[in-house]
Amino acid sequence: MRRTGLLDLNEAVQNPGKRLQFEVNTALASEEDLDLVEAVSGTLEAVSTGNALLIKGQFKAKIVLECARCTEPLTVDLPFTMEDEFEVEGIPSSYASDSYAQVVCDELYQLFDKNALHQDTYIRQGLIVSLPLQPICSFGWDGACPNAKQANLEVEEPHGRPEMLKLEQFRRAEEGKE
Ligand SMILES: [Zn+2]
Repeated sequence: MRRTGLLDLNEAVQNPGKRLQFEVNTALASEEDLDLVEAVSGTLEAVSTGNALLIKGQFKAKIVLECARCTEPLTVDLPFTMEDEFEVEGIPSSYASDSYAQVVCDELYQLFDKNALHQDTYIRQGLIVSLPLQPICSFGWDGACPNAKQANLEVEEPHGRPEMLKLEQFRRAEEGKE
C-alpha cells in the first residue's frame, strides 16, 4: 500500500555516511487532537553509521492551546527539535552488492515501512513532547486576566485565600478519615 508522507531513507541506510536532507511541510491532517494554525515546517536529516540510522529534525509549529488559567484559546509558536537513533540490521548494499540493510523498528507506533519513515507519525511525536505543560496567556498567573473576566470567573480574589485553604485542608482531613 502506498502511503503519503513516507520519506524514503533507503539511500542513507545503504550508504553509511551519506547524509540525506528533506524539507518538510505537513499539516498533520489526520490529527484531530492537535489544533494547528499552520503546517509544521522544517528540515529533517538522516545519516547512517552502518549500525544505526540517526535522524535529526528542526521544526516549527503554530498551534492553538488552552490557557491553563482562564481556558481561553492561546496561539503558541512552538519551535522544536528532534534527535533519534534507530538500529539498523544487515549489511548495507554499498558494502556488498547482494546485501541489504534495514531499519529495526519495534516502536509501539510503526514509524518505518522498510526504510521509509512515516514523517507525520514521527513529527507528531516530537510535537507532542514539546507542548508546554501549562500554557498561559500573556496575563500570567498574577494580575487580572481580561479573558477570565469575560468568562465571568472570579479573578479579583487571589487563588490562595487563607480561609479557602483552611476549608480545603479541613475537607481533605475529613476525606482522610473515611
Ligand atoms: Zn489566561
